Amino acid sequence: MEYVLTTHNLTKKYGKFKSLDELSIHIPKGAIYGLVGKNGAGKTTLIRVVCGLQEPTKGSYSICGVKNTAKSICKSRRRMGAVVETPAIYMDMTAEDNLKQQCLILGVPTYDSVPDILKLVGLNHTGKKKARNFSLGMKQRLGIAVALVGNPDFLILDEPINGLDPQGIIELRELILKLNREFQITVLISSHILDELARLATHYGFIDKGHLVKEISADELDNVCRKCVYLEVTSTAALARVLDAEGIEYEILSDHTANVYGRFNLSNLVLSLAKENCDIISSHEQDESLENYFINLVGGNHND
Ligand code: ATP
Repeated sequence: MEYVLTTHNLTKKYGKFKSLDELSIHIPKGAIYGLVGKNGAGKTTLIRVVCGLQEPTKGSYSICGVKNTAKSICKSRRRMGAVVETPAIYMDMTAEDNLKQQCLILGVPTYDSVPDILKLVGLNHTGKKKARNFSLGMKQRLGIAVALVGNPDFLILDEPINGLDPQGIIELRELILKLNREFQITVLISSHILDELARLATHYGFIDKGHLVKEISADELDNVCRKCVYLEVTSTAALARVLDAEGIEYEILSDHTANVYGRFNLSNLVLSLAKENCDIISSHEQDESLENYFINLVGGNHND
């Protein structure tokens, strides 16, 4: 598989504190990669390091196959556009002038792409209106427009949905999907708003305390989430032994209850449990949301 971004044991320390702790992620070309983590998990730090705004303490990363220590990393980074924290826009300029300014900064020789980018992000009718008078959604889309100058094939968006109203969220979602599907731009998007992320992401990286807890494609996640069976058994210790042997994911809830994830054959499980002198008392299937999956992975409220 071709990857746009990989990190290998990437570590970023502030004093003794590890904001990134041996983080290894893999973003396939063409993906919309949802980076999920609680506040302080290290999402922005990862993005800042990859954008070259901070140096890693240890470990490495590669953009489009070019390692961060290679001389050509600057060239690779030019294939990337990013909106980190707040959009980098000039509030006293119009949308058009913001894009022209970015052309100058990047050394793009003409302004020919400006009208197309404005149209793409839905800001082609804003005329003389200054960015400071834009809605939050418009500012966010202008930030993305600025990131699109230079024709990147990898776009990084740090919490782009934060603070947007429902209409703003829909517009941004449609824009991200369009950039990905029509323009084949790979997108890394960090977000707390998991329901929304679930409508976009083709892959997920769940991070906690600076390290990767799980990396999974949306298809794999669908399989896991679609099927969660709540089991009541005579011994969850025996159940855990059987499930471990079969490589099936589960979560023990008490001495007698557990959630079992993914697709598995219940009849086979009954037989295997019988060999361990364990009976199933009851079972029922339940749907699991992305949010529940995340909470099960990292524990607690996802915003604490
Ligand atoms: P949020 O969703 O709240 O933005 P995050 O996952 O983006 O969280 P980071 O901003 O990457 O998290 O921060 C990760 C940890 O690193 C936090 O505990 C933060 O306090 C710490 N941290 C980040 N930048 C610095 C810095 N410059 N100096 C010291 N600590 C820092």
